[in-house]
Amino acid sequence: MPALPTSTAAVLHGPKDLRLEPRPLWAPEPGQCQLEVKSTGLCGSDLHYYLAGRNGDFAIRSPLVLGHESSGVITALGAGVASQYPHLRVGVRVAIECGIPCRSLNSDGSARTGKDVCKHCSNSRYNLCKNLRFCSSAKTFPHRDGMLQQKINHEAWCLHPIPDSVSYSQAALAEPLSVLLHASRRAGICPASSYPSLGSSTSFSTTSTTSTSSSAAGKKVLVFGVGAIGLIACALAQELGAERVCAVDINNDRLAFAARERFTTSEGNSTYCLPLPPKITSMEPNPKEPENIRRAKENAANALAVFDEPDGFDVIFECTGAESCVLMSVFCTTLGARIALVGMGSPILSSFPISAAATREVDLIGSFRYADTYNEAVELLSGSNLLTSSCKGGHTNGVQAVQNAGFSQKLSKLVTHRYPLSQAKEAFELLARGRDENGGMVLKVMIES
Ligand SMILES: [Zn+2]
Ligand SMILES: [Zn+2]
Repeated sequence: MPALPTSTAAVLHGPKDLRLEPRPLWAPEPGQCQLEVKSTGLCGSDLHYYLAGRNGDFAIRSPLVLGHESSGVITALGAGVASQYPHLRVGVRVAIECGIPCRSLNSDGSARTGKDVCKHCSNSRYNLCKNLRFCSSAKTFPHRDGMLQQKINHEAWCLHPIPDSVSYSQAALAEPLSVLLHASRRAGICPASSYPSLGSSTSFSTTSTTSTSSSAAGKKVLVFGVGAIGLIACALAQELGAERVCAVDINNDRLAFAARERFTTSEGNSTYCLPLPPKITSMEPNPKEPENIRRAKENAANALAVFDEPDGFDVIFECTGAESCVLMSVFCTTLGARIALVGMGSPILSSFPISAAATREVDLIGSFRYADTYNEAVELLSGSNLLTSSCKGGHTNGVQAVQNAGFSQKLSKLVTHRYPLSQAKEAFELLARGRDENGGMVLKVMIES
């Protein structure tokens, strides 16, 4: 038998121990496609694994390939794909969805029954599926490898064809964009998916997490943290028609970038740089109000004054996970607002202004990865408008087409650095430093072939 061809993978063996290794390239299994990976964006969770060998509670238990923001081109089809997925052929360019839910199926492909039915997959919330295997994550064991490889085999139903107008690196951004589409649906400013749910292998149920009437119209949106995720939150909120989009960060350069590139609303002051807390405080501690709560109130009041939004914001995307920002976000809300918790940071808060949140009727909304977002993400990246394409009889006029081309161009500005797979280690080191050798800002680093 001839030896199997090999594919090079960047494999993480432990903290900062990233090795390029040849891996045997098996033929795709039935229902899978083989792909050449073209672009993979590095994200914060990849960086945590790279630096520490773990991401929060999830430690790698065996060598792991990172990368889950990916696009590629189909190079071979497994058995059954041609008949079941006629839109997937060799040469088709795709965005790759890296979370593979159980779809309420047993491993032999039969439907789960009785108490074994997966209610999350059945309810179009497959991001919560207990059996979901996410490529590049150590949450489940055995781990499923990620996309920092030359070639991979992947489930055909998790591949989303992209039009010629969308580049591979833009298509890789469908993943972080999906995170924000999901969070925006959860926060009530984005309509539900109008496609059949990917979590269901049979029925044509559509997303149940939100109503299709969700709208950003008239909403004022505040984003904490303008790294890649927060910037996408800003761009998407504007695209969805938010009345105003403002941002808070501790990094003035990032805020200047957000304002200059119009991720935030161009009228008025739309960015606020959060001062770092003083190391020593001369104030007497107030037992009724912990210092971090007092500071959160003060920072919120200052920010709302700068934004000239004394009544606060309707929707907040907390993309830092930092305790100081989570606390501050509560005091930046208007009555009846929603705070979407997008950032993963402090696992536990030392204090929380629960009565302020309760009496303002603030909804604190958890948001984890995404479900049924890729179709809309690819539509947005290819220049169509969710608002017009999702309403019956809607059409895209010339003005909107210009605006929407602007959306994908705006997102492309997030890609600040590109490396080949052979320099994946250098790419991670750059991401960790946050500045390149010329002092340039590092937002999204792409591994490309
Ligand atoms: Zn990620
Ligand atoms: Zn499931």
